[in-house]
Amino acid sequence: MAITITALAVHDVRFPTSRGLDGSDAMNPDPDYSSTYVVLSTDQPGLTAYGMTFTIGRGNELCCAAVQALAHLVVGCTLASLIADPARFWRRLVSDSQLRWLGPEKGVIHLATAAIVNAIWDLWARAAGKPLWRLLAEMEPDQLVGCIDFRYLEDALSREQALELLRANHAGKRERIATLAGVGFPAYTTSAGWLGYGDDKLRRLCREAVASGFDHLKIKVGRDLDDDIRRCRIIREEIGDGRKLSVDANQVWEVPQAITWMRQLAPFRPLWIEEPTSPDDVLGHAAIASALRPLGIGVATGEHCHNRVMFKQFLQAKAIDYCQIDSCRLGGVNEILAVYLLARRFGIPVCPHAGGVGLCEYVQHLSMWDYISVSASFEGRVIEFVNHLADELENPVRISGSRYWPTEQAGYSAVIRPAALAENSFPHGPVWRSASKA
Ligand SMILES: [Mg+2]
Repeated sequence: MAITITALAVHDVRFPTSRGLDGSDAMNPDPDYSSTYVVLSTDQPGLTAYGMTFTIGRGNELCCAAVQALAHLVVGCTLASLIADPARFWRRLVSDSQLRWLGPEKGVIHLATAAIVNAIWDLWARAAGKPLWRLLAEMEPDQLVGCIDFRYLEDALSREQALELLRANHAGKRERIATLAGVGFPAYTTSAGWLGYGDDKLRRLCREAVASGFDHLKIKVGRDLDDDIRRCRIIREEIGDGRKLSVDANQVWEVPQAITWMRQLAPFRPLWIEEPTSPDDVLGHAAIASALRPLGIGVATGEHCHNRVMFKQFLQAKAIDYCQIDSCRLGGVNEILAVYLLARRFGIPVCPHAGGVGLCEYVQHLSMWDYISVSASFEGRVIEFVNHLADELENPVRISGSRYWPTEQAGYSAVIRPAALAENSFPHGPVWRSASKA
């Protein structure tokens, strides 16, 4: 039965996370985790789909306006026409000749593209009655490759090479789905280490993380070297030598400063330094990576890497050891599939950025598909976990013992509960009305 998209609504939803300094880091001291939240209505009773992109507060209304500008490209379309040639539908969304000027494929217009593309994939998975990870995992290699726009990738990953990568692990998918159900997907937590938290809170949260089974924690660094040394010492005291520690500077350093600062933190054996400098500085990351690799410290970046072309360059330049895709900064699922395959071709594990609103819910699907269909390995792969807003979602991730457990609910999972949507709507929801009176 044909399913037609009859309307697109967009909501500006902002959670007041800055009031508790949740999410605070060296670059972003007071984020209000926010969602540009897209709801697609269809002509099928009971079939509604949801998609989002993530921002940290002010300016979320710009993403909402950009979604409205793109809406004409999907409203009135049938789902069948979109998924008959998924690469073409994605190319169409990023190729409106006037809107393209606002990017291309970067910034507000690309964040908005992600919200719509994520909603289309949610619709596809709901219509198929499957969680997105399973929808992807059950595709044949040529179907998956048919979802990807290879424009600007041919020098690093051709369609044929992508097919070869997928065919190599096509057998064994069924066993890996069973393995995933049995052991889950490795996770690490960032919830203990926000920069705005005091030492006592850091210590307490480290203990709680270890008690709940986490064997890999990440903390924010980069504001003050003495503070970082003290905080790293506390975290090592609490987690011991056997667990992993990563650190995240959120773009605050110059290239030479990143190298000297990290040499001071090397005794605490960080697994990676994340976003050491400008997210656009491919060669700067390469210089940092080559200076730190002899110390056993890898370089991770990607949450502000705005398209597949940037990732191609990071990989070609040997600038990253961990590829941190963001499910909302890239232009939705289609472009993300391309980056997972690119990273596979260069032998770099993808460890997605998550947290925020709905990002954990999204990336679990992508990394589970990676394990089943692309990498066939957990080696070096881990998904970020942040627990702040799980109560606001209808189908939050299931996590225990440092593992994400696969969901069987149909769709792409990031759905805000109706009460939370009303409460946190900006600027007229009760949360923000009371703030403006204060
Ligand atoms: Mg980060």
